[in-house]
Amino acid sequence: MTDAKTVKPLYDTYNRAALRFERGDGIWLVTEDGERYLDFAAGIAVNSLGHSHPHLVETLKAQAEKLWHVSNIYQVPGQEKLAQRLIDNTFADKVFFTNSGAEALECAIKTARRYHYANGHPERFHIITFEGAFHGRTIATIAAGGQAKYLEGFGPKAPGFDQVPFGDEAALRAAITPETAAILLEPVQGEGGLRAFPDDFLRLVRRLCDENGLLLIFDEVQSGVGRTGRFFAHEWAGVTPDIMAIAKGIGGGFPLGACLATAEAAKGMVAGTHGSTYGGNPLAMAVGNAVLDVVLEEGFLDNVNAVALVFKQGLASIIDRYPNVVSEVRGRGLLIGLKCVVPNTSLVQALYDEHVLCVGAGDNVVRLLPPLITTPEEAREGLKRIEAAVERLAIANPTSKTA
Ligand SMILES: *Cc1c(COP(=O)(O)O)cnc(C)c1O
Repeated sequence: MTDAKTVKPLYDTYNRAALRFERGDGIWLVTEDGERYLDFAAGIAVNSLGHSHPHLVETLKAQAEKLWHVSNIYQVPGQEKLAQRLIDNTFADKVFFTNSGAEALECAIKTARRYHYANGHPERFHIITFEGAFHGRTIATIAAGGQAKYLEGFGPKAPGFDQVPFGDEAALRAAITPETAAILLEPVQGEGGLRAFPDDFLRLVRRLCDENGLLLIFDEVQSGVGRTGRFFAHEWAGVTPDIMAIAKGIGGGFPLGACLATAEAAKGMVAGTHGSTYGGNPLAMAVGNAVLDVVLEEGFLDNVNAVALVFKQGLASIIDRYPNVVSEVRGRGLLIGLKCVVPNTSLVQALYDEHVLCVGAGDNVVRLLPPLITTPEEAREGLKRIEAAVERLAIANPTSKTA
């Protein structure tokens, strides 16, 4: 029996670190006790412009005094503006706004199924995904992600998601059937351990979609909006999807996501087929537009690439010196993964001890997701602390063998 006095008020779904932050300033977070932490977690790739960015703060305050929310039964000028800017800078012709990544994926999945329905093929509703994927925590997106640990105990897995091993061409070809609607993937897997699909593989997937009448869906919830040094990660491979889900970085900390699509792919999404109470409200749109003011500024992505290079070189040197602790740098741009030899939870803790925030990922990886405004000097400060954390583990594990 549960004793009411010992029951904590929050769901126990998170193993939370004993850290209580009160405010943020650029790439720093400050606890209630005034301790400063270098924020290389960035709210899991959300705080793209760090904390308290003056342009975001001003924009939010100004909009808060005008209008927070109106229903989508009215026209929302901020949506038209943000959608047009996303369209002008991507493959897309159409945008639907959401409050989160999972909702953006739900819209992407519905868009793909509805496309085939509109073409007279309602039986084509299967979506092929890859092992290690993470697409969210709704009933459909845990089925899309296919990870047993997220599916267990939540009833039957939602039908229509067929998973193949990461980057396996033969398995992918074999999985395509007359019932397949789309292929869905993260160009760089985030939760899964910062695994990037090779550019060649993305081009192959695009070709297979074209040959088989399938839609290609990219989940750029984590990799998008400048995180990899391009506006979207798929630009590195020179391929475009038909549908793309984005979120995280686009809101800079305000809950905001979007589903982007070509006009053709979105043709089934006619009036009444989808909706959202909050998605794209004026407050969210003001902040999203303010994030793009900064990210689309000339030279912004050059800085991301320059800082990413500082990290890449610094981390490579740490790996050279401490191969018993860390073995590989993964990812792209400022979507960085450190493959660990020691348990990744030990490195996360050692980094906390050095006042560096980071995030664990699958495949025994530690994620570093510095805000995109990080300067080369701040990156070097971070590297010093990362080295100190790794050195401490090297001393504690002198006999650990590289895997
Ligand atoms: C975070 C994430 C999601 C889910 O986003 P939520 O806002 O938590 O619903 C989906 N896909 C990827 C790749 C993500 O990183």
